[in-house]
Amino acid sequence: MSIESLAIAAGSRLQHHAEFGKKTTYRVGGSVRALLTLSSLGELSELGSEIANVGMPIFLLGNGSNLLVADGEHEVLGIVLQGEFEEYSVTEDTHGVLVNAGAGIDLPVLSRRLSAEGVTGFEWAVGVPGTIGGACVMNAGGHGSDMAASVSEVVTWSAGALKQWSPEQLIFGYRSSALGTSDIVLSAVLRLSRGDIEESKKKLSEIVTWRRENQPGGQNAGSVFANPKDDYAGKLIEAAGLKGARVGSATVSQKHANFIIVDTDGSANDVYELMKYMQHQVLETSGVLLRSEHRFLGLGDLT
Ligand SMILES: Cc1cc2nc3c(=O)[nH]c(=O)nc-3n(C[C@H](O)[C@H](O)[C@H](O)COP(=O)(O)OP(=O)(O)OC[C@H]3O[C@@H](n4cnc5c(N)ncnc54)[C@H](O)[C@@H]3O)c2cc1C
Repeated sequence: MSIESLAIAAGSRLQHHAEFGKKTTYRVGGSVRALLTLSSLGELSELGSEIANVGMPIFLLGNGSNLLVADGEHEVLGIVLQGEFEEYSVTEDTHGVLVNAGAGIDLPVLSRRLSAEGVTGFEWAVGVPGTIGGACVMNAGGHGSDMAASVSEVVTWSAGALKQWSPEQLIFGYRSSALGTSDIVLSAVLRLSRGDIEESKKKLSEIVTWRRENQPGGQNAGSVFANPKDDYAGKLIEAAGLKGARVGSATVSQKHANFIIVDTDGSANDVYELMKYMQHQVLETSGVLLRSEHRFLGLGDLT
């Protein structure tokens, strides 16, 4: 089988030579050979064997808020989850609240809706502009919490079959998990609790205010490098004198040194070259090798 077989089966759900980098929050970078939009588990089952035998790597795109896609075209099948994958449901048992969230739902949307329903424990996610799928892969976190604190199960489509992952199997670490590039996250169950709506609302607004005051706007993908043990990547980058450093269309933010802002119509390769420069300069000045927090398509991992 090939991309042609998938194209015939998928019809208008598959786009050839589709923009991919432009769909990330950097809004730069190249295209993929094909982009498939899936709206339900039924569609995944229907197209499952064509996807499994497509003959090229698969690359899932959430909100692209932690992703740098190299310029040019990539011989991969991009997949986006929409429709039913953007839904969630809330149930309760004797231990608290269980939220079954589709992989495509936005974290800020889910965080706000749960808060309004009196479900607490997911407020931290209001300022993280990713999806549940991307957040599980990355073990996204902030404000003293992370996905690992509440995920009790993840369901993926792996090697052509559904798979349920327990927290032990997910091996969540700092911005990492055991989920690999061939595991398509379909949904996650979060264990949260009932709480006071007004208190939860207050927490949301404090987090949003903190983000506005401390993080830059513009085309960026959040923190570029993970914090080293007992230190802060931003502090080390600033100490290396890199605020405002520029490579082509990419600049180290003046507001937060661990953010790169790229110009409209800029280049992903500029972002990557600036990252390499930052990594090199921090190693020279402080002896610390920073590890990239971003995921890449068509570019080597900066680890
Ligand atoms: C302004 C800003 C602030 C941010 N603040 C934070 C923060 O405080 N804390 C934090 O942790 N992160 C932060 N981020 C980074 C980012 O939002 C998170 O890493 C988020 O979890 C990425 O989710 P995404 O859906 O955008 O994933 P993407 O960037 O689309 O993808 C990231 C990785 O996950 C994979 N992936 C995505 N969806 C799936 C799926 N359904 N199945 C399998 N693999 C999938 C992709 O292939 C890729 O490897 C910030 C980003 C921005 C732009």
